[in-house]
Amino acid sequence: MTDDYHTTENTCVVCFKNVVFYSIGECDHPVCFECSTRMRVLCLQNECPICRQDLARVVFTDTILPYKELRNRVFTDRQFERQFKIGFCSDEIKQAYDFGGIYDAR
Ligand SMILES: [Zn+2]
Ligand SMILES: [Zn+2]
Repeated sequence: MTDDYHTTENTCVVCFKNVVFYSIGECDHPVCFECSTRMRVLCLQNECPICRQDLARVVFTDTILPYKELRNRVFTDRQFERQFKIGFCSDEIKQAYDFGGIYDAR
């Protein structure tokens, strides 16, 4: 069986840290929300760090789901970042994004 790829690992393929929340776009490659935020918000790059596909928008989620399912969710104004086109599946994730310290120059 080759599909324990996703179930045993919840390490981000970009930064190798443990993923708290995932960022998933059209290509269904999960990366951690911190890497995704860094790329979209700080570097203004919308492409997937894995396959370089341009992602019109991404969804931050705590569970890996196909993007097709995530896209069908209705996001309230509060749970959608219009400028960077990021949807948040919960208030908790939105808060992590707001206070995540990604604006710290570490
Ligand atoms: Zn990462
Ligand atoms: Zn991708």
